Amino acid sequence: MRWKGRRVSENVEDRRGGGGVKAGGISILGLIVAFVAWKFFGVDPQQAYQATKQVTSAGETQNTAPTSLTPQQKEVSDFVGTVLADTEDTWTTIFQQQGAQYTAPKLKLFTGRTDSACGTAQSAMGPFYCPADQKVYIDTQFFKDMRQQMGISGEQNQSELSAKDEAGDFAQAYVIAHEVGHHVQNLLGISSQVQKARQQSSEAQGNQLSVRLELQADCFAGVWANHTQQRTQFLEQGDVEEAMDAAQKIGDDYLQKQARGYAVPDSFTHGTSQQRMQWFNIGLKSGDVNQCDTFK
Ligand SMILES: [Zn+2]
Repeated sequence: MRWKGRRVSENVEDRRGGGGVKAGGISILGLIVAFVAWKFFGVDPQQAYQATKQVTSAGETQNTAPTSLTPQQKEVSDFVGTVLADTEDTWTTIFQQQGAQYTAPKLKLFTGRTDSACGTAQSAMGPFYCPADQKVYIDTQFFKDMRQQMGISGEQNQSELSAKDEAGDFAQAYVIAHEVGHHVQNLLGISSQVQKARQQSSEAQGNQLSVRLELQADCFAGVWANHTQQRTQFLEQGDVEEAMDAAQKIGDDYLQKQARGYAVPDSFTHGTSQQRMQWFNIGLKSGDVNQCDTFK
């Protein structure tokens, strides 16, 4: 997937930096100061680092992310921001065509856990959209886990990422576009209608409605891919297969089979792998939101 050089959205809130870097106990500034001290004053770098660490950590307690991102973290941030910008351009155009105005969601990147208007977010939950604060939450650890599930091993992953920044990037973009799809459903009032209908239905029926909502978000992700392709020609060979593979592996039946060894249809909330692929493809081929009626 080609993504460099395009607009990067300003709606990404990166909350990984401060905590993540400090957790490792290594401040880059501290290391540089220590190195300079050792090089020019003959101070033992270990000692110098200990000394600077106290100073820098005291001054950095409320450190904000951008200053302390590693080059890899910056790369992830730019990638996510570019995909988010692509969704903004897509949905702004589609809403305009309907005489409406699109309000873009914010996207919060975090590691470990973070607060949301929908409760505390934890990495184990996977990416989600919170309608109450209109934010998409993504723990970047999920991307790593997903690549691993897709059979891209850790080392291969690292080397491919630095060499060609590929290794599952379109699958990641697809996940972001799916979450933005939930935001679109929220703006269109679809989510609240489904919520109401769920309250008047049995558990099995309610789950069916949730599945349809999820499949529509997949279809919306397909619409995003279609429009972005027309605008930027960003797709490369194998990208769509990659997203299909991801959809297959993160479909509920796959997750359930992994967990229990067999699938239990009534408790599906994202749809089967087959359904997810089918609806993503409908959006991708047509680029038309009206084709995404998963409820009929
Ligand atoms: Zn979803």
